[in-house]
Amino acid sequence: MVEITWTKHSRGGRAAARRNAAPTAFPLPDDAPPFVHTVWMREWDGFTPRTSVTHDLPRGLPRGIGVAEESGGLRVDFGNRPSVHLRPNQFLRRQETFLSGRGCSCCGTPWYNLRTLNIVYGKVRAESFLHEPAVYIDDRRILGARRRSVGSGRQVG
Ligand SMILES: [Zn+2]
Repeated sequence: MVEITWTKHSRGGRAAARRNAAPTAFPLPDDAPPFVHTVWMREWDGFTPRTSVTHDLPRGLPRGIGVAEESGGLRVDFGNRPSVHLRPNQFLRRQETFLSGRGCSCCGTPWYNLRTLNIVYGKVRAESFLHEPAVYIDDRRILGARRRSVGSGRQVG
């Protein structure tokens, strides 16, 4: 999982360029699956990647995401859309945007977040996510500065 967090201060210029260049997948650690490898990149941290690994499943997954092994694959539930079935060694990528936090300390506008969730079932390799996914789900929305919650509105991108 890759999360990028920023404020309106990096909407333009070099900060935006750095943010837009941030990867949506990283090499996976050599660890025993199942695990969740999370990389955070935050504006106030210069978008320097910070990583963590947890074997605490499903708690390590974002709220609303459920996974269950079933015959011949893995079922992934999202809450807002039909389940996805992954066959062995397939991976899915889901991207969503949301607002969070109490807001920027200087101006109070919310933090913007782009979360990319990559899930692979089967053999886990360092490069598992470094190619095109079998399934791509786009739940990105335009984040308005004044809206505090993100509805189940239209899709973008
Ligand atoms: Zn501010």
